[in-house]
Amino acid sequence: MRTAEATEAVPQSREQHLTLKGLPIVKYRAVSKSFGSTQVLKDIHLDIFSGEKVAVIGPSGSGKTTLARMLMTLERPTSGTIEVNGELLWHREVKGQWLPANEKHLHKVRSSIGMVFQHFNLFPHMTILRNVTEGLIHVLGMGRAEAEERAVLMLEKVGLADKIGEYPSRLSGGQKQRVAIARAVVMQPKVMLFDEATSALDPELVGEVLTVIKDLAAQGDMAMLLITHEMDFAREIADRILFTDGGSIIEQGTPEQIFENPQSPRLQAFLSRFRQTGR
Ligand code: ADP
Ligand code: MG
Repeated sequence: MRTAEATEAVPQSREQHLTLKGLPIVKYRAVSKSFGSTQVLKDIHLDIFSGEKVAVIGPSGSGKTTLARMLMTLERPTSGTIEVNGELLWHREVKGQWLPANEKHLHKVRSSIGMVFQHFNLFPHMTILRNVTEGLIHVLGMGRAEAEERAVLMLEKVGLADKIGEYPSRLSGGQKQRVAIARAVVMQPKVMLFDEATSALDPELVGEVLTVIKDLAAQGDMAMLLITHEMDFAREIADRILFTDGGSIIEQGTPEQIFENPQSPRLQAFLSRFRQTGR
């Protein structure tokens, strides 16, 4: 039987849910990014909570990829801080002093983040199984037998158990992207980033990849940041949607708020353009 405390702990609203989730797993604080003299992100404040699914929509060039690449440590913010799991990404703290992150520190923090890009970047000379075990063995230091056991389970989850001995060139784009997802998720990251994971695929292959992502989302306490042009998918999967334009988060809210009751003229224009042209 449930105790009174446990019953009270069941969240009654999204706000309560977030409060009960405690500390955010990802924190952007006053993050800006410039390339040369061009500022592409401006004063970003963003928290992502454990298990939360956050979709990012917005026009091309609005800074979505840069937002994700900074979290993946592929770009360094020009100013501001990013924390993952309570640790600063680009600084390490030594006796209360912030020092620039060294490679060892980046490696450690990066291990809690996984990413799937538009282009799958599988290792072409390795079988599907090896593609998925590689990180387990060489990054996490797992023994081959255990790594293979985990990889097979993961490949079953993405519907590719029968392809473990194949090479990437033998797979369709949708299958390759499912391998890329398996390869990232098998590392058990706390946060998964998906940057337009289906935009390079032929239309008939999009569905199978979105289904795999939805299944993973439904299972887990893994947080997800999903950059997508698939509005129905965003609506279905996301706890919260961010709309970016011109390097800022212009508006955010639940799927209902964003799609049914957009507040800012820029989001309204984006959605109506999208409804007319599909992009
Ligand atoms: P989105 O993913 O929303 O299309 P991006 O984050 O890719 O946007 O890009 C935001 C802006 O930053 C764009 O104007 C883009 O041209 C610019 N940009 C992105 N990466 C670089 C880079 N490495 N060097 C110079 N400019 C860049
Ligand atoms: Mg992009």
